[in-house]
Amino acid sequence: MSALLERRNAAFGKGAALFYKDPIQIVKGSGVELEDETGRTYVDMYNNVPCVGHAHPHVVEAMHKQASTLNVHSRYLHEDIIRLAERLTDLHGPEIENVVFACSGTEANEVAMNMAQVATGGSGFVCTNGAYHGNSQQVSQLTYVPTERMTNVRSIPFPEQFRPLIDGNEDQLCEAYLAKLKETIDGFADSGIKFAGLLVCSILANEGLPNIPGDFMARASDLVHEAGGVVISDEVQAGYCRTGQWWGYSVSGLKPDIIVTGKPMGNGLPLAACAASRELVENYRAKTRYFNTFASSPLQAAAGNAVLDVIENENLAANVTEVGNYLKNALEQLVNRSPHFAEVRGHGLFIGLEWVTDKETNTPSVEGAVAMVNALKDKGFLTSNAGALHNIVKIRPPLVFTKSHADRFLSAFEECL
Ligand code: PMP
Repeated sequence: MSALLERRNAAFGKGAALFYKDPIQIVKGSGVELEDETGRTYVDMYNNVPCVGHAHPHVVEAMHKQASTLNVHSRYLHEDIIRLAERLTDLHGPEIENVVFACSGTEANEVAMNMAQVATGGSGFVCTNGAYHGNSQQVSQLTYVPTERMTNVRSIPFPEQFRPLIDGNEDQLCEAYLAKLKETIDGFADSGIKFAGLLVCSILANEGLPNIPGDFMARASDLVHEAGGVVISDEVQAGYCRTGQWWGYSVSGLKPDIIVTGKPMGNGLPLAACAASRELVENYRAKTRYFNTFASSPLQAAAGNAVLDVIENENLAANVTEVGNYLKNALEQLVNRSPHFAEVRGHGLFIGLEWVTDKETNTPSVEGAVAMVNALKDKGFLTSNAGALHNIVKIRPPLVFTKSHADRFLSAFEECL
């Protein structure tokens, strides 16, 4: 064990998560490249937080300038934070009018859940059985909820085609998952719990980026609305052009009333937001008198506006679509090369590779995915394993990832297969 790892365990207490069998020490980042303490470089295929690239000069400069000028809490007027809120709402349809800022995805989901409760007077939430939305007491109740659990947070099996709920065609499968949602919503009334809403990642990222059958997301939104609930789209992973579209809900057809964003917003500076209609937000503000010391600060505004500048100026949405499609198509050509590599899924620069013990049973292989992740790391490409069954090799590089990075990755990947 390295001396630094020993000190880490001593200082943090054992059990603080670390990536890779032999953990790496990163000392520097630029664009999609990371460098360790020995000078060895890695291609970052995992990190969506530095979405416009590690240490992007425009973001660094904006933060430096702001930190040298002013940084205070939010109870003063400040031009830039208002501009950031205006720019964010402009990225949605006209019904999304207001923003509540926060510092993490968890906090923004917390705001969203409270907002839904204020709006509906309900406390019953539906999530999927493979979800993760954050680590606070309320939000963590939505983590990996078994479908049999009958509290005020209930889960539905996440809609997917790889291990489908029933045998049948895509339409029948979609109907089957919708029936589960309807049954779950109706179950709240049977237990005397008022329904508040559905909280879901619009592309089911943590579930493992499944191919969602038919128009499940749109029809699920209709079911929620018919039952008087609110649809919350968690865009913490799916948003900010990750899919090639600004928002995951545009890809999947989810119809959100509340949109939660986080991770990529500040390119590394903690910045998150919950956006919704004026009515939802003002009712929430009136009821809760929400305040968050570090949220809506001038420094957050500087980083947040700079990230939006770069995404627009460098045309990153188009890059994501082009390079993402290129990488996904190339990976699909390699599925037949291994008995353990069963499927390629995802959108834009967010790709999941399904690892199985064998293609007859499609039994998930966590061991295989982990072995692949470690082998890729040894070749200089950083990924991780993820998904509801932890057997997905997750590819989610900064949005400035290029075709030439993709080519380098593809030859390493082929060798590892
Ligand atoms: N929502 C989703 C979909 C996430 O993946 C995460 C974190 N992995 C969160 C919310 C929580 O964000 P944070 O860690 O910033 O609290």
